[in-house]
Amino acid sequence: MTGMGKLFVISAPSGAGKTTLVRKVLSRFRSLSYSVSHTTRSPRKNEQNGFDYFFISLEEFEKKINLNLWLEWAKVHDNYYGTSRQFVRNCLEKGQSLLLDIDIQGAKQIMGSDLDLVSIFIIPPSFEVLSQRLENRGTDSREVIAKRLKNAKLEMTQKDLYQYVVANDDLDEAVEELCSIFEKETAQP
Ligand code: 5GP
Repeated sequence: MTGMGKLFVISAPSGAGKTTLVRKVLSRFRSLSYSVSHTTRSPRKNEQNGFDYFFISLEEFEKKINLNLWLEWAKVHDNYYGTSRQFVRNCLEKGQSLLLDIDIQGAKQIMGSDLDLVSIFIIPPSFEVLSQRLENRGTDSREVIAKRLKNAKLEMTQKDLYQYVVANDDLDEAVEELCSIFEKETAQP
């Protein structure tokens, strides 16, 4: 019988370069799957339903809250985000390791559950770089960017809740660091 898969939870302020990092790590490990979250926010240009997120209505999201179908969920920057409890359970039971890219509120919910997890926080090089990245992305309005930056400052104060803190100063180095965490944590005893 195969053992349980490992649950990796990654959080970072938006603009920390987490999506790029996560995609690179995923491409290196077949045994690691990505948990596609559900959100009520509108898709950005180039985002695909079922790949980046499952884009669902507020009604649908709230229905699933009432049915207790979310492993964790949170309201982030005025939108709702959630992880399917069933999907996570199925993967882990099949021995498939999973990577969740979720905010701190959601990570805390999982830390407080009976699930065994490996938690990783990604820190951006500096606040200036973070702000520049959000502007360069060109996907969010000024108001949304201001909200994300304010949230990022708050989020940085919570990094010590996580088992690993990885600085994304240099993308390749951060990828290597994440890969070595994954290798270490999934190594058979
Ligand atoms: P974005 O809208 O930029 O894709 O994501 C905004 C924030 O929502 C990010 O910090 C991301 O990690 C977080 N997020 C994405 N999916 C989930 C989820 O399923 N649950 C929680 N709690 N946060 C999520």
